[in-house]
Amino acid sequence: MIYDVLVVGSGFSAIAVTCNLLELLPREARVAVIGDDPGFGRGTAYRSELYLHRLNVPAGRMSLFADRPNDFSEWLKTRNIPLSTGDFASRSDYGLYLRDNLASLLRKRNERCGVDFIRAKATGCVEQYNGSLAFQLHNGDQIAGRNIIVCLGVGSADLPIDTSALPASAKSRIVENPWRLSWMNRVGRQDHVCILGSGLTMIDQVLSLRTHGHRGPIIVLSRRGLAPLPHLAQPAPAVKVDVDSLPPSISGILRQLRRQAASVLDWRSVMDGLRPVTQKLWKKLPLAERSRFLRHALPWWNIHRHRVAPDVFAMFDPLVKDGTLRIQAGYIKDVSASDGDLVIRYRKRGTPVEEDVQCRWLINCTGMERAGIKHSPLLKEMAAQQFITADPLGLGVQVDDQSRAAGGARTSRAEIFVVGALAAGQFWEITAVPDIRVQARQVAETVAQKLATSLDP
Ligand SMILES: Cc1cc2nc3c(=O)[nH]c(=O)nc-3n(C[C@H](O)[C@H](O)[C@H](O)COP(=O)(O)OP(=O)(O)OC[C@H]3O[C@@H](n4cnc5c(N)ncnc54)[C@H](O)[C@@H]3O)c2cc1C
Repeated sequence: MIYDVLVVGSGFSAIAVTCNLLELLPREARVAVIGDDPGFGRGTAYRSELYLHRLNVPAGRMSLFADRPNDFSEWLKTRNIPLSTGDFASRSDYGLYLRDNLASLLRKRNERCGVDFIRAKATGCVEQYNGSLAFQLHNGDQIAGRNIIVCLGVGSADLPIDTSALPASAKSRIVENPWRLSWMNRVGRQDHVCILGSGLTMIDQVLSLRTHGHRGPIIVLSRRGLAPLPHLAQPAPAVKVDVDSLPPSISGILRQLRRQAASVLDWRSVMDGLRPVTQKLWKKLPLAERSRFLRHALPWWNIHRHRVAPDVFAMFDPLVKDGTLRIQAGYIKDVSASDGDLVIRYRKRGTPVEEDVQCRWLINCTGMERAGIKHSPLLKEMAAQQFITADPLGLGVQVDDQSRAAGGARTSRAEIFVVGALAAGQFWEITAVPDIRVQARQVAETVAQKLATSLDP
């Protein structure tokens, strides 16, 4: 059987696309979703069961559907969760909300297109003689479709050092993937912990450690030593940012935004005004300026743009202030084992000085990897076969404004779309729900229009 649509992935992007396809496709259409995540639709982000792992976007902007902005807030009410649109819900509740939405659409089975969920990892893909693309699955099966929607997210970054020569006992205390929370049960109350990376993942892991009873010192090492800033409990209104009046250079844009921020009560009003026009601004920038932004401004962008909920910050910040947690700007050079501990050698930022820190645990919180297609064997294979190409900045897959992947020299008759952060080369701001949900709808609409004519009885 050849499916009309194959969705590949099992995180938010896949569930958003699938819900929109269920709403839009004719009953005759057949859809398959291939995903390797047991909690379909949750991905890394919404799988956490810890209540203090909160969304970093207020509930009023987390609806699955852009045209029904209150959908999530209303779901919270039906669950008697007393949060308003400006509050930050837990990520586990958000995962349940996604699941409920999908389940209610699937219940109306007679009115909807058919969807098959296939729990498997897609490992490769070949073009078939009839023009469809067939995906090979890890279990040896193969599944083919005429329209492919790739929703694979971006992988987690690997540790930037080689630890293969370390003894097994030392390696067992290096946590490569902190989202598998079982490692925390082995951490002693007073153990020294070194966390690599100072972003949102680091804050999540620090608060989880505290909840598990850890009270020892924590050193956080990152290249710039910058940690996310908080949202305001009472945010000021966003100010309008006129993209057309901004110059097409990063330094010129920064100058103008700084001026604008100085004229309002709080800089967040400018960041919030920039948010809805960021994709437009990105498109206006020449490639060299986009590259300059990634080289020089990205860490500052991240801490100002991707902020933490105020009460999460209120739990984290005292640990910095009382010295329990120290943030060090520097570059990790090496890890060795000594007396049952790990010795982490790093170079202090801006100096040639190298220092050692001794700790029991090293936790990799370097977060999402903007490593383009390199993190995924499937994407590498698709690129080798020239079904997709990497974008020039190496952020992901080259797509057009309709999220259609540009193939290499070879063009397959099946169309490939890419939804989520892998399309960052074209859109930049496409990692969070408020942006992905718009893209998911657009792609589902494009596919529905195509199928409306081809499936006409
Ligand atoms: C910890 C964390 C917290 C976040 N919090 C927020 C928030 O509060 N608000 C917000 O708007 N955004 C948040 N984000 C951003 C988040 O990335 C997006 O909201 C969204 O979850 C991205 O979903 P995705 O489906 O594109 O990617 P992912 O969630 O990464 O999903 C990709 C899926 O594809 C599957 N997959 C990969 N390769 C294959 C393969 N070969 N075959 C089959 N399946 C495969 C993976 O198992 C995974 O389930 C957060 C991100 C993280 C990591």
